[in-house]
Amino acid sequence: MKTLKQRQLETGRTLALDGKAWRRLRAVILGERPLCQHCLDRGVIEPATEVDHVNNDPSDNRPEALQSLCKPCHSRKTQRDMGKRVSYGCDSKGMPLDPSHPWFQKSPATEAGKPRCSPRFNATCLKIGNYEAHTQAPPLR
Ligand SMILES: [Zn+2]
Repeated sequence: MKTLKQRQLETGRTLALDGKAWRRLRAVILGERPLCQHCLDRGVIEPATEVDHVNNDPSDNRPEALQSLCKPCHSRKTQRDMGKRVSYGCDSKGMPLDPSHPWFQKSPATEAGKPRCSPRFNATCLKIGNYEAHTQAPPLR
């Protein structure tokens, strides 16, 4: 049988899962943030039942390093952190439920802050005032 100190050294946890200090901290976090953060990010209201270390550092017990999650979301996060592929599925419109899905990542074109424009100068270019994109373009034939 391993001692509490040995288990803490092995897992990197500074608060044992079955210890009084973690149970108290867990209750405070769930009391302050009773809804699952990952579900909220997807627009779903779900009560949280577990407290997770956001950055996966079990020794970091600052309130901002902890988040409330429901069991399915916590399991998915753990699976993903272990390098496994996890599917969140999609909503009734076919949109992915995973906020980190590539669909939601911004393209370099929109990140640059410039409006997107067609390769050929047209009425849309006039409307959005994007002339620079065409000053370097070869002349139209
Ligand atoms: Zn959830």
